[in-house]
Amino acid sequence: MPAFEQTSFLFPERKADESAKALQVASQAAKITQELRRPRPEAPRISTRELGPADDERVRQDLEHRISAHLPGGRLALAVTDNRYTMISVKREKGPMYRVRLHHMFLKAPPAITRSLARYIAMNDSEASKHLSAFIDEHHLVIRRAARRQRPPVTVETCGEVYDLQEVFDSLNGHYFGSQIDACITWGPRGGKRKRRRSIKMGSYSVEDRLIRVHPALDRRFIPRYFLEWIVYHEMLHQVHDIPVVGGRRQFHTPQFLAQERQFDHYDRARRWERTNLDRILHY
Ligand SMILES: [Zn+2]
Repeated sequence: MPAFEQTSFLFPERKADESAKALQVASQAAKITQELRRPRPEAPRISTRELGPADDERVRQDLEHRISAHLPGGRLALAVTDNRYTMISVKREKGPMYRVRLHHMFLKAPPAITRSLARYIAMNDSEASKHLSAFIDEHHLVIRRAARRQRPPVTVETCGEVYDLQEVFDSLNGHYFGSQIDACITWGPRGGKRKRRRSIKMGSYSVEDRLIRVHPALDRRFIPRYFLEWIVYHEMLHQVHDIPVVGGRRQFHTPQFLAQERQFDHYDRARRWERTNLDRILHY
């Protein structure tokens, strides 16, 4: 057995319009936000933060234990993901140590499935593999139907006073992503009196709705296009990268995410501009 091996279950490729619906997952939607905060004395000058729903770490641990019970002499490290295409991936390391990433559809899997998972993880057993494929097919459909039923109506407003978000999104999609990002984008709601804020959510991405929201404070003439692009680019990256559970928390910005974020053409310039113009952005 090689020291390192990876096997994956994949969702079949779908037509573009179908995949948008197919991959919405209603039960565990994550909303990911970029927040700009006024600095506190003890904090770094700017911190951008992501907020997610409460992690269901207990359920993850429970599944890890249930699978481990069928894994003689091996250790299991389980991450639960919301990955679009990969339902199961297994890395087998010396020990043996099994690093497994599972789609969250498995969180409440019945005992027969956890046994098959263990056989698949430990031995790449072909019967177990068939059993799991059937489970994935069945739950994939259920998740899709639920997503379609529960989809809330969303007002999408792309055309702002200064910037057209759809145009910004399309150009980034072509330039960085081979036009493969499948999401809607909208300005957040406007209104209210101008004031000095302590923090502002510049952007967010809703996994369930595949919707990027951008704060209207960025729809102003003094905001350079490369800065707005940076915010949108960041949110688009959330569709590319899955969200593993690390140390009991969902990790929105994995090292791979951050590495790709640095590939933005104006990365340094955008960060510098943010530091210099913090007060102006927060006055909205
Ligand atoms: Zn983020």
